Amino acid sequence: MRARTLPYGRQSVTDDDVRAVDAVLRGDWLTTGPAVDAFEAALRDVLGAPHTVAVSSGTAALHVACATLDLAPGDEVIVPSLTFAATANAVVYCGGTPVFAEVDRGTFCLDATDVERRITPRTRAIMTVHYAGLPAGLERLRARAREHDLPLIEDAAHALGAHADGARVGSGSQLATFSFHPVKHVTTGEGGAIATTSDVLARRMRRLRNHGLDTDIRMRERANTWRYEMVELGWNYRLTDIGAALGTVQLRRLDANLARRRQLARLYLSAFGEDEVVQAQRVDDVDAHAWHIFPILLGVERLRVDRDAFVRALRAERIGANVHYAAAHLQPYYRSRFGHREGELPITEDICSRLVTLPLYPAMTDADLDDVVAAVRKLIAWYRA
Ligand SMILES: *Cc1c(COP(=O)(O)O)cnc(C)c1O
Repeated sequence: MRARTLPYGRQSVTDDDVRAVDAVLRGDWLTTGPAVDAFEAALRDVLGAPHTVAVSSGTAALHVACATLDLAPGDEVIVPSLTFAATANAVVYCGGTPVFAEVDRGTFCLDATDVERRITPRTRAIMTVHYAGLPAGLERLRARAREHDLPLIEDAAHALGAHADGARVGSGSQLATFSFHPVKHVTTGEGGAIATTSDVLARRMRRLRNHGLDTDIRMRERANTWRYEMVELGWNYRLTDIGAALGTVQLRRLDANLARRRQLARLYLSAFGEDEVVQAQRVDDVDAHAWHIFPILLGVERLRVDRDAFVRALRAERIGANVHYAAAHLQPYYRSRFGHREGELPITEDICSRLVTLPLYPAMTDADLDDVVAAVRKLIAWYRA
């Protein structure tokens, strides 16, 4: 057995990263300043996106993106339930109602056919999540959104560096949000960003991240004026220069990071390809996927234990397995506030009862991965019904 538990994900921080942060700490700007400008430019280059707006978290990115919808009470936004609570919460922050939709059984991504069924005269937008880093079905979701004249918001927190139809996720998006939490591909400590093709939306989101003020402090300094106008209600969602400097250096390693994640994913896929108890995500192109996590579905009907007991057993083997996610619509808040119940989303609920996330991060070695595969195989043999 391993001496120490293998985590399911972990940041990589190098001496270059430390030096970049050190330089900011010794300079004139700690909060949003030149390092944020540089980070936004580097992110634009990496994504091929016309505009990027850096904010203080992936959640803030979702909130600001949703705020551009100008929702009224009773307005609906369609979201998958197989996601982190933050996706749906952003709709609620803006006074709207999340309408939860099913995901595809193979890709675990939002099902465009189910979305179509849930569109009503109150629908104001569709939000999708590129689950685990796979932008599956994006073209079909875009087509649904276009037909109904609805904006499509992509929660791309898992999908930095992924491709859909040959283009990088975020490059041609009306609104795509990213997270720079330490467990994601690139970190700024806490941080996030929105990529958009619209200069109108970009300008508005810059305002919303800074209290709804029409100018920021550097613009006022350049114009030699103290005057500002608050033109709408915004928030303090500014990213710090400290975090941005870290993120800019981290972005330079994104391609190497993605290459290693893809190598590890290939090893997992070949290890479990023929296994009747382990179902991996259905993926057409391993290299178009960003592999934030490696989820599997357990064939619990072939086992004497449920998923939770299996995860506990993996952890006892010092494999830091995790679960992404508990269905959002069944969280106590969504049950009591919106009256959701079991049985509403049978596909999502089935998937959520069988999902296990196996460790995957760039610094993980092939030997680490062999330990994970051996532990999963050992437990399956032990618990087989
Ligand atoms: C991480 C994540 C978020 C939130 O990002 P934070 O930076 O932690 O606020 C939102 N949605 C999904 C799918 C995520 O994985």
